[in-house]
This record gives sequence, C-alpha cells and structure tokens, in this order.
Amino acid sequence: MSHRPIYLDNHATTPMDEWVLEAMLPYFREHFGNPSSISHAYGWEAEAAVKQARQTLADAIHATPEEIVFTSGATEANNLAIKGVAEAYFSKGRHIITVQTEHPAVLDPCTYLQDLGFEVTFLPVQGDGLLDVTQLEKAIRPDTILVSVMAANNEIGVLQPLAEIGELCHQHQVLFHTDAAQGIGKIPLDVLDMNIDLMSFTAHKLYGPKGIGALYVRRRNPKVKLASQIQGGGQERGFRSGTLYTPQIVGFAKAVELGLAEQASESQRLRQLREHLWTTLSPLGGIHLNGHPEQRLSGNLNISVEGVDGSALLLGLQPVVAVSSGSACSSSHVAPSHVLLALGHSKPLAHASVRFGIGRFNTREEIDQVAQHAIATIESLRQAQTPKTSIL
Ligand SMILES: *Cc1c(COP(=O)(O)O)cnc(C)c1O
Repeated sequence: MSHRPIYLDNHATTPMDEWVLEAMLPYFREHFGNPSSISHAYGWEAEAAVKQARQTLADAIHATPEEIVFTSGATEANNLAIKGVAEAYFSKGRHIITVQTEHPAVLDPCTYLQDLGFEVTFLPVQGDGLLDVTQLEKAIRPDTILVSVMAANNEIGVLQPLAEIGELCHQHQVLFHTDAAQGIGKIPLDVLDMNIDLMSFTAHKLYGPKGIGALYVRRRNPKVKLASQIQGGGQERGFRSGTLYTPQIVGFAKAVELGLAEQASESQRLRQLREHLWTTLSPLGGIHLNGHPEQRLSGNLNISVEGVDGSALLLGLQPVVAVSSGSACSSSHVAPSHVLLALGHSKPLAHASVRFGIGRFNTREEIDQVAQHAIATIESLRQAQTPKTSIL
C-alpha cells in the first residue's frame, strides 16, 4: 500500500472501531431480519438488537428508549427537529433562534423556513466562539417556538453552555434543540439536567458507521410535537418511516458504549496531545488559536496563520497530514469559513486556517511528526513571501 498521510481530520469523520465492525457483522449475515416483522424469529432477533441499542443510547443521555428516533445521521435529525417543530407549532408562533456558527444542516433548514414565512434570528458569537446567553434571552419573543444551538462546533470545537441555554429556554417555554453530532460520547450530555427537548446525533464522528444517527425527542415536561418529514410504514412512532437499518443501529450503539467507557481518560489524553501540538507550533509567532482555549473539544486545535496563503498552506501540509482548512470548498470556489468570519477574522486570516482534529487512533509520535512538518511548511511559505506582497 502506498504511504498515506497521518489522519487528523476526525471532525469530518472517524475510522470505524474494530469492535464496532465486529458487533455489526452478524446483523449483515445470519440476523438479517426486518425488526418490524413480528411473526417470526428473524424479525424478533433484529428487533431485540434494535431494542438493546435504543436502550444504550437512551441511557447515555438520561432519556427513555421511546424518546430515541433513528435517522440516517445528524443532517436528517436536524432537518426533522427544525422543520418538524416549525410545522407542528406554527399556529403558536413562527420565530426561530439559532447561531451564525451552526453547521449547514441547521442553517439551511432555517433559511428554507424563512422562505416559507418563518422569521429566523441568527445570533452572532463572541470572539471566542461562545454564545452570549444574555443576548439569547433578549432575542426570545412571545412567538419564538424553537432555539437551536449546537453542543460542540465542528470547526473550532467550542462547547456552548447547554445547561444555561436549556434553563433559559425552559423558563420561557421555548423548545431547545441541540446538534450534538460532535458531542455524543465525548462530552457529558444529559437531557434532564440540561433541559434539552431535541438532540441530534450521528455515529460516524464517534468511530461508528456512516449513514446512521438519531434524534432525541422529549416525551414529557413538555411532550414535544413533531411533524414527520418522511412518511410511510410508520416506524419510529411515525416520526420517521423506513425499515430500520439494524447493522448500523447496532454499530451506533457499540460506538456510544465504547465512547462512554473511555470518555474521561480519552478526553484527557486528547487534551494532552492538543496542548503538545499547540506548544510546539505557537513559538513560531503569528499563530492564532481559534475558539475558546478551554471550552472546546479536547481533540480540536484550530489555528489561523499570519503571513501565509491558506491554499498554499493546505497544499504544503497535504503529503504528511490529512487536515481540513477552515474553508468550505464548493466546486471550484473556496470561501472562507462562516464560523471563522463570525469570530471577527479578516478574510485572509480566516482563509489561512487549519483544523487539526485529533482522535482515538492518533499517537504522540504522529503529533510530533505533524508539528515538525507544519513548522517547516509555515517557515518556508513565510520566507517565500516578501513583506510587500504579504497579505497581512
Ligand atoms: C457531521 C456533522 C453533521 C452532519 O452529520 P451527518 O451524520 O454526516 O449527516 C451535523 N452537524 C455537525 C455539528 C456535524 O459535525
């Protein structure tokens, strides 16, 4: 096999854990039944596995199994939560609040609803990426039906104050949805303590398979109403029709189980690796840490580099390390990240950014190698740039 770069793009997706694959295999082979088939053992076996998985997921967030709705991932869960609430509550109000730094899977359903006549407030964030909760409180109106604020940012790793936001929403009787795609199995999540009404998940950011996720939908205090977005056989209590994907569901639950078992120790290990990377790179000077230094995912280091071109930086890093920049590429057009712009960065600085996403299978030796290569790349790019053509 050819030499491949070190994988440090664990916020985009993660490699699947071997244990997850092992757990899934029987459900591709002998236990292939449809969990909705109630008249024979094939169906019962699959149904038992789904039931067990639902319990694991519910336990992980202090919910009940009936409150878990399996979806194809966090994109679908976000769409179901936001459009589903909008459709079910529009007679109560048509105002939704979210944040400028959300994932497109939250922002785009919101702009879609704007076109249908809903009003959406996109709150700014502070320089460290955190939402100002007093600003949120001011934005809540009598016709506000939903607040959607993510748990952990996929670019800068910032952890929003969910408990505070939940408390506020609860006081004002506004539903609170959080996109926890980057949070599940990595940070503590408790739907009761945090007053969360709807929460989106995905397995593939947690060493699980792609194409599976879930939406937590609160059933009491209050019972959340939701208009289904996919109609058919009535699976998932009618919220999401379609034959359940048993192997993926089993893998998802295994991933959550493994994540929870090592959450505390792994979080500490990742933080040490991140700090090691930061303390090796920062003496170069002109390197900015994006996002709050402490209130962030332990495996996330997002930096902006002065005096280099963003595309050249990425190109220079590519042979040794697989990372993403803070830029979202859509076809040939490279736009600076909406998240970094929301932090108040200039376009060139937002563009010259790198997101290091350290994960379960990364070692200290790999981090050393990446750090040395990043230093060499940045130094040579800066030397090539005369002061007059410098972009900053
Ligand atoms: C990856 C991600 C999503 C999309 O999840 P899919 O399961 O790939 O659809 C949504 N929100 C956040 C914060 C993410 O990181």
